[in-house]
Amino acid sequence: MAIDFTMSPEQRKIQKFAREFTENILAPVIPAADKEPDPMLAYQKTKGAYIEAYKAGIAMAMLPKQYGGAEMSCLDYVIACEEITSVDPGFACTCLCNGLGLMPVLWYGSDEQKKRFLGEATSDPTGTYLSAWTAGEPPGGTGGTANFDSPLPKAGIGMTAVKKGDRFIINGKKKWSSSAGWDGLGTNTQTAIIRTDSSVGGTEGLSAIVVERGTPGITWTFLDKEGHRTTSNAFVVFENAEVPVDNLLPGAAGNGDLVINRNFAWSGPVAAIAAVGVARAAYEDALKFLKSNTAGSLTPIIRFQNAGYIMGDVAAKIESARYFAWRAADYLDKHSQHAELIGAMCKINVTETMIDCVYKCMQIVGVNSLSTEYKFGKYLREASVLPIYDGGNMGMQRRRVHGIIADENFNPRAIMDDDFVKFDKSMEAIDTVADPLPRTRGIMEAAE
Ligand SMILES: Cc1cc2nc3c(=O)[nH]c(=O)nc-3n(C[C@H](O)[C@H](O)[C@H](O)COP(=O)(O)OP(=O)(O)OC[C@H]3O[C@@H](n4cnc5c(N)ncnc54)[C@H](O)[C@@H]3O)c2cc1C
Repeated sequence: MAIDFTMSPEQRKIQKFAREFTENILAPVIPAADKEPDPMLAYQKTKGAYIEAYKAGIAMAMLPKQYGGAEMSCLDYVIACEEITSVDPGFACTCLCNGLGLMPVLWYGSDEQKKRFLGEATSDPTGTYLSAWTAGEPPGGTGGTANFDSPLPKAGIGMTAVKKGDRFIINGKKKWSSSAGWDGLGTNTQTAIIRTDSSVGGTEGLSAIVVERGTPGITWTFLDKEGHRTTSNAFVVFENAEVPVDNLLPGAAGNGDLVINRNFAWSGPVAAIAAVGVARAAYEDALKFLKSNTAGSLTPIIRFQNAGYIMGDVAAKIESARYFAWRAADYLDKHSQHAELIGAMCKINVTETMIDCVYKCMQIVGVNSLSTEYKFGKYLREASVLPIYDGGNMGMQRRRVHGIIADENFNPRAIMDDDFVKFDKSMEAIDTVADPLPRTRGIMEAAE
């Protein structure tokens, strides 16, 4: 019996544990944290719950047992995440970003780096350890994120590392990376994607370097944002920051582009299940409202055909989205944590379908969905983050899908047949150089 959607007893236990953690420890702190106007204070209000999550093994669940983690499979991880995200996807994002920061160390680091960085991450007696993943850069100028793999050396990632003896001298700016640390002085480590060769483009000149908290020359500022208010995002400035050359992940030297593509696909099913968690909460609240209000008629609103039809559609979309997230996570487990294609397809499809489900719930509930008495406003804010973050669906995820399916040897039945879809540099850089207007003009003139 190969295809079986039944959870194992162990998976039921994981789900129950995550649900209890969410209801008893996380849910009580979220309303105040979400309403807090200061982003640093909002984040700090979740610190107690984070320590509990760390002690329970949730915060570093993705890391192998060999390095002190729980070695949770990707599939089990998304099962647990659905519970947490149904209450607060921001908090789940804080935990997920530990993976975004540390999985590249596992995939591309030396044995010594793994022992050191992963070992430290799982053995913090204070339970406050945070890792960050710093790929994104501010828009405009010489920086940018979506076109990180542009073949032009002057485009894409703008942060540079220049080797001087046994140190890298790092200069540049990063934006949106997860977490400025609990105190605004940085996370314990961050894995940063940096241009180590400024003479070549983004498919050759980028590397991943682990930068430790306390490195002089780095400043962190909390960003304020509309959704996911309980997780923190930072603006990070490097000014002649010196980092040991030993902190460069050897497997990622000149391969920072592949790290970005692999990392943002590893997290795809998690972003997808976060969208499922949020939509599920909106659906359950909407159903409750529709069964307990009449809108001035003689029957509960759910008796109206439009309410029943739309809520039925919403329920079906949530079910299918969940199975897609499970399948994409299962693919990661079966293919050495590579899901460059299905991870992206899953994130795009599910996050964009689920935001529509949240809005549909609001339409059917009606004007009261806009009242702060209910949580629909929060659901909509949270759902709107998911297609945009974690490698935006437009400039990053769809572009990767385009690069893969445009490849001459692409097998359109690969996912269906559970074949390994190998992602390589030849599939990158697609769509990064927009057609310059003069050329387009030339083509149009020739056509006339
Ligand atoms: C809660 C949260 C957590 C986050 N955590 C992290 C993190 O841990 N680490 C991190 O590095 N980042 C993080 N981010 C940032 C996030 O990953 C972004 O998705 C990423 O920075 C890329 O943004 P973007 O796609 O909008 O790119 P941008 O470069 O800002 O592009 C903007 C828009 O331009 C268009 N565009 C640009 N180029 C192209 C192109 N070639 N083809 C088609 N369209 C194009 C697209 O419409 C795109 O949406 C986080 C963001 C949030 C909100």
